[in-house]
Amino acid sequence: MSDPKIERIDVFQVDLPYAGGVYRLSGGREYRSFDATLVRITTDSGLEGWGESTPFGATWIASHARGVRAGIEEIAPSLIGLDPRRVDRVNDAMDRALVGHLHAKTAIDVACWDLFGKSVGMPVCDLLGGRTDLRMPVISSIYMGDPQDMRRRVAEHRAMGYVAHSVKIGDEPAVDAERIAASLADKRPGEFFIVDANGGMTVETALRMLRLLPAGLDFVLEAPCATWRECVSLRRRTDVPVIFDELATDDAAIAQLVGDDAAEGIGLKISKNGGLTRGRRHRDICVAAGYTVSVQETTGSDIAFAAIVHLGQTVPEKNLRCVLECRDIVALKTADGPFEVRDGRVVAPALPGLGVTPRLDVLGEPVATYA
Ligand SMILES: [Mg+2]
Repeated sequence: MSDPKIERIDVFQVDLPYAGGVYRLSGGREYRSFDATLVRITTDSGLEGWGESTPFGATWIASHARGVRAGIEEIAPSLIGLDPRRVDRVNDAMDRALVGHLHAKTAIDVACWDLFGKSVGMPVCDLLGGRTDLRMPVISSIYMGDPQDMRRRVAEHRAMGYVAHSVKIGDEPAVDAERIAASLADKRPGEFFIVDANGGMTVETALRMLRLLPAGLDFVLEAPCATWRECVSLRRRTDVPVIFDELATDDAAIAQLVGDDAAEGIGLKISKNGGLTRGRRHRDICVAAGYTVSVQETTGSDIAFAAIVHLGQTVPEKNLRCVLECRDIVALKTADGPFEVRDGRVVAPALPGLGVTPRLDVLGEPVATYA
């Protein structure tokens, strides 16, 4: 059988409404809907691979949905004729066509891994290094709000089986302390809490907030401040474990994170970190450093979740904190597949590739085609 070649790249756009109404983050940021880009790559042998990239609006990191599609427009013509299974070489070609813009490269990169798996009859997790036996815990995403309302929403997710919760904070120190105390008030044995400020605190407000907390609360602090300097400064003055997310985006940042001893782990979000090819590298650096990793996405629908599950399934148990159930965040289903969450845990399917079947009726006609 001859090597498969990329023959056509189709781009689809769908809006994913936020399932909980209005999602609120530090700094007055609000999100009601997420603009998703899905990519279908077709090879000369007729195989199809799928990928997704859905930024968390335009105000979370330096990425935005129209930028995904504009970036693909820059990249796609130079990929025609390449073997999609040579994923590092496909990424070389993307980097030659466009510097940076990792979120634009992600949907293509993930579609290549899906094709790779289908071409050899193996699931993506096995191509990424091999599945662990772990039934992976999924983590909730609890937006910033009234402390008692956050406690109620944590309880709702607990009732759905979630054993891990990402609780958003990041404005007034006293209210943030109340939010944390309320969210952890009913904590059960085995539950895990990430308190995520999304860069919303200064070192000053973070230190004040930490001093207002009752002693003994068990959580890790994610993305306390907006800049590297502030996060490192805060870390040197607290014993609370620190996790990087928005600042841990590329190879250089992950390497510097280890070199600076700036954190205990990262949120590895596939489109933020540049796809499965780069995500695999970030996973390996983190494992080598003894970090914990939460495999997540900025947000997204079923194809994004499939990529999360396959990469998560390759992280050793002691290093994997959780995977994000991004499908619960959005109110639209874009694909089907055996990705059932049972008792708050999920396992990657054994199907070839990602194991998803996109709902073509939901996606409609492509908004762009490159051939
Ligand atoms: Mg985060």
